[in-house]
Amino acid sequence: MPPAPADPNENELREALITTALETNRRSLNQGTSGNVSVRLGDGMLITPSGVPYEALRPEDLVFVDADGRWEASRRPSSEWHFHRAILQERPELAAVIHVHSVYASVVAIQGRDIPALHYMVAAAGGNSIRCAPYATFGTEELSRHALEALRGRTACLLANHGMIAAGANLERALWLAEEVELLARQYVLSLQIGGPRLLDDAEMERVLEKFRDYGPRERS
Ligand code: 13P
Ligand code: ZN
Repeated sequence: MPPAPADPNENELREALITTALETNRRSLNQGTSGNVSVRLGDGMLITPSGVPYEALRPEDLVFVDADGRWEASRRPSSEWHFHRAILQERPELAAVIHVHSVYASVVAIQGRDIPALHYMVAAAGGNSIRCAPYATFGTEELSRHALEALRGRTACLLANHGMIAAGANLERALWLAEEVELLARQYVLSLQIGGPRLLDDAEMERVLEKFRDYGPRERS
């Protein structure tokens, strides 16, 4: 059983994680017990518990999962702790991961499609497309491997027949991206209904990616 981490920011982080989780509901990105949120803490992470609606969350309900994937026996972290941990371990520039079953991202993911460069905002996730990871059962290491691969060079991906993942340097940034990805998915679905999107070419996406290196909300001091 790992000792409780001693981090002076831990209480604030627990509150911020709950605020972010509730925001995914308020912004219609999530509902019920779908989805999960994590944030880096020391060399482990805090993550929402499995199967608990965000409205019922108290700071002490969040589960600390250490770097080896262990947690207190009386706790039960999100079933998706594998991909949260893998992303935070493999991508040191990221500190927060949000997973939602938002409607339009899920609709595109149900088709197993990537979101192509239909809008310059696709570059907000780091490339000229937002990839869709192949299907694997929820909560498995296989899904975690697929997600990591789809996130290569990106900060968001779709999960086939499931939903999406958005990550960022902090919770605010990850939430911002999750909402943007959902909007892009909605634009994609709607554009398919009127003849399909006219895509931006790679040269234009490169220009946008360059501009995006310095784009997005700043960290609050
Ligand atoms: P948890 O309640 O275990 O976090 O599961 C929700 C989910 O979205 C699984 O993919
Ligand atoms: Zn899910």
